[in-house]
Amino acid sequence: MIEQHYTEEALLSLLDTRDADAVLGDPHLAACDMCSDALDSYKDIAGLLCDKDVWDEDDAFDSEPAAETLSRIRAFADSTAREDAEAMALVDQLLELPTEWWAEEVRSDERYATAGVVRRLVAVAHEAVDSTPTQASALTSIAVDLVDQLDLAKYDGELLAMLRGRAWRERAYALYYLGSVDAAKSAVQKATDAFSSCTLADVDIARTRLLDSMILSERRIRGSRRVCSCVSGRVRDVRIARTHTRSAVGRNKRVSDEWKVSGSDRTISTARVRAEQRKPGSTGRHHREHSLLLSRDGRE
Ligand SMILES: [Zn+2]
Repeated sequence: MIEQHYTEEALLSLLDTRDADAVLGDPHLAACDMCSDALDSYKDIAGLLCDKDVWDEDDAFDSEPAAETLSRIRAFADSTAREDAEAMALVDQLLELPTEWWAEEVRSDERYATAGVVRRLVAVAHEAVDSTPTQASALTSIAVDLVDQLDLAKYDGELLAMLRGRAWRERAYALYYLGSVDAAKSAVQKATDAFSSCTLADVDIARTRLLDSMILSERRIRGSRRVCSCVSGRVRDVRIARTHTRSAVGRNKRVSDEWKVSGSDRTISTARVRAEQRKPGSTGRHHREHSLLLSRDGRE
């Protein structure tokens, strides 16, 4: 017989039973250590939850943040805000230059080598993608290169990975917008790789997946368009082939009709010559054949 243990719900309902004798008299609980142990531990927990001390928070947690942690967070927020303000001014200057100068300008001026500039380039590219997608693409290309040039001693790995992921995702979006779906697909992969090393990138990963699905559906549409144009090409080929076949059949029929006519003409004239040759000593049958041939020839 298969042993049937009490479910968690069944044991909890037994816990509510006031009649202790009924519980003690339960034959399965009396025989099964596993279920009776589980019931005992539920009883202990239920007992603890009724204890006032358990709910007393006074000594349990220190609700004040550690001063050191707080000052570190404030310093980080301040330096990020400062960096972002500087980046905004720098990128504004950059945008005044012709597009083809941008990459060289960023490479040669080390003031641009900050996480703030990468953030700003990504933000500007995102806004520009509808109106000037080629500029958005150029900005994201600079952003992904710049992330790799940032000082590893100045920024921590998690921040850089996050920045790299966002720069590549924006690059993927610009490329997708420009219709370069294959390049967009590989940019999405780079973004995904970067985010996979971050601990708090769930939202970024979700946004990247969304973009990935847009790129994939665009690829499928293009794939089916290619198939359609291939099929319509074949249909056209078949039509052309049919027309050729029809005209060839027509030509063959004409040729063969001409051959038949000229062939029967030859037969008739040969027969006539023979008939003429036989005429002098001919029998009645030869005369009949001769007159028949002449009549077919329309002479008599
Ligand atoms: Zn049991």
